[in-house]
Amino acid sequence: MPYDMIDLRYIFDKTNGYCYHCRKKLAWKNYGVVGVRGAWEVDHSNPRAKGGTDYIRNLIPSCISCNRSKGILSSRKYQDSIFLGTLLKHSERYPELFPKKKRRKKRQKQPFGLRIADANKILTVSGSFPAYGAYIGWVKPKSPAEKVGLQAGDIVVQINNQ
Ligand SMILES: [Zn+2]
Repeated sequence: MPYDMIDLRYIFDKTNGYCYHCRKKLAWKNYGVVGVRGAWEVDHSNPRAKGGTDYIRNLIPSCISCNRSKGILSSRKYQDSIFLGTLLKHSERYPELFPKKKRRKKRQKQPFGLRIADANKILTVSGSFPAYGAYIGWVKPKSPAEKVGLQAGDIVVQINNQ
């Protein structure tokens, strides 16, 4: 149900702006905004499903995680369950509330401008004689590698006469 500003402020101030259950700091402006820091909702201390009323005495500020985890538990039972650790971590239970940061795959840098493979493996697979050295699979145009005359398909067997 929608609440008017006066009710909301009253409910928020009941706990000085902390989640009634887990004591997390709430952000007044993030009322009902899922997925942001300090997001909060109005919770029925005694749930409606158990006959709890919309009377303001029964309304408390709750972070969204607690409100949704609580379900039809009374506040007392919910707090007990937090205490006993019987609830899953919020992030496991409501992964959509905790968007994971995407990890970018690190791409290997090729400062010299080429990709190499073990020549031995490549030639053996293709049926030719085994060779030793580095097979040049790719040369970046205008890279240092190209400037010294390397081409894709070359096999480097010597570096500085070693
Ligand atoms: Zn909470």
